[in-house]
Amino acid sequence: MDMKTKPLPEKLQGLRINGPRLWDALMELAQIGATPKGGVCRLTLTDLDKQGRDLVSRWAREAGMTVTIDKIGNGFLRRPGRNNALPPVVTGSHIDTQPTGGKFDGNYGVLAGLEVVRTLNDAGIETEAPIEVAWWTNEEGSRFVPVMMGSGVFAKAFTLDHAYAAKDTDGKSVKDELERIGYIGEQEPGDHPIGCYFETHIEQGPVLEDNDKTIGVVTGVLGIRWYDCVVTGMEAHAGPTPMALRKDALQVAAKLMQEVVACAHRHPPHGRGTVGMVQVHPNSRNVIPGRVKFSIDLRNANDALCDAMDADIRAVAAKLSAESGLPIEITPVSAYPAQPFHPELIAAVGRAAETLGYSNMPAVSGAGHDAVYMARLAPAGMIFIPCKDGISHNEIEDAKPEHITAGCNVLLHAMLERAGVAG
Ligand SMILES: [Zn+2]
Repeated sequence: MDMKTKPLPEKLQGLRINGPRLWDALMELAQIGATPKGGVCRLTLTDLDKQGRDLVSRWAREAGMTVTIDKIGNGFLRRPGRNNALPPVVTGSHIDTQPTGGKFDGNYGVLAGLEVVRTLNDAGIETEAPIEVAWWTNEEGSRFVPVMMGSGVFAKAFTLDHAYAAKDTDGKSVKDELERIGYIGEQEPGDHPIGCYFETHIEQGPVLEDNDKTIGVVTGVLGIRWYDCVVTGMEAHAGPTPMALRKDALQVAAKLMQEVVACAHRHPPHGRGTVGMVQVHPNSRNVIPGRVKFSIDLRNANDALCDAMDADIRAVAAKLSAESGLPIEITPVSAYPAQPFHPELIAAVGRAAETLGYSNMPAVSGAGHDAVYMARLAPAGMIFIPCKDGISHNEIEDAKPEHITAGCNVLLHAMLERAGVAG
């Protein structure tokens, strides 16, 4: 049987999740680590994280799911299918938050998966392939580096030992903290089949809201290039040095900084260019700046476009250097490849949004997600919903109940399409 493109049977097209129940679950989980300003502070591998994991595990067991924990503390909540030899259709996200986190980032993706299962239970629907809901350890990376730790270990982007050794500012290690909260499991990370992977997430940007759309059909995650740039001039007194005889590093740097933004505009629609850090030496009111160091962050939808932006900014820098006579050095700091999502999963999300009658548009993710690592292992896709003013990683992060419901309905239909329905 080809489950890849089979539309849902007519009788299932009317199936909907229970929006208020999902909302209540989100609000209950948000009580754990609730902040006075209405946000959530539930850092990874803390006592609060343990309480969150315990609550989600209890809900999963009450929904008839089994709970498996792997050695990095990722959780897999499983609802069997009719044919359990098939790899599961998986959805998930994370339940750790930033110190000034909100109620929805990550938590929505996990609880939307749970709501899909509760809905299938209510309707007495058996899927062909099993369904799983995953939480990934330490997605946020605010207490322990690197970010997206659990899914990264699972996808073998780095080793379990590397993750275990990471320490927080108090010197506590990931391994010790996993043991302490009782979430160091038996299963080898990655030793767990994934048929395909969906992740539902708030957009964390303003595009859907700006376009008045309910669903973002995510086509991929932007590639990222980070650089340090140094322009070297010559310090001299601001008074006695005539304009023609100066080597003012900041004036040249300022031109190049503007070119970083212009470069993004030259590579639309997804080009991004940001200078976020600037150090001026000697940073004195009456001294011509002799040295300026600044960061460059370039992003685009595929690696070829990232390469093109790299070549563009280097050519501009060479031209500015030749014109000014000042050396300009551009050093790569790190690079993350763009991650396109799987065409079939993108199509499944788009089809579900259309069937359900939700306004939708293609979207790209400028931020990293666990789905990026899953896409290396299996077909992956994401569903975005708007969040208020595009704000996240902030206690005022907010999403509308109708959007929360809509995203979960899309997840339900897309997962059912992929899992197939028994009988
Ligand atoms: Zn997130």
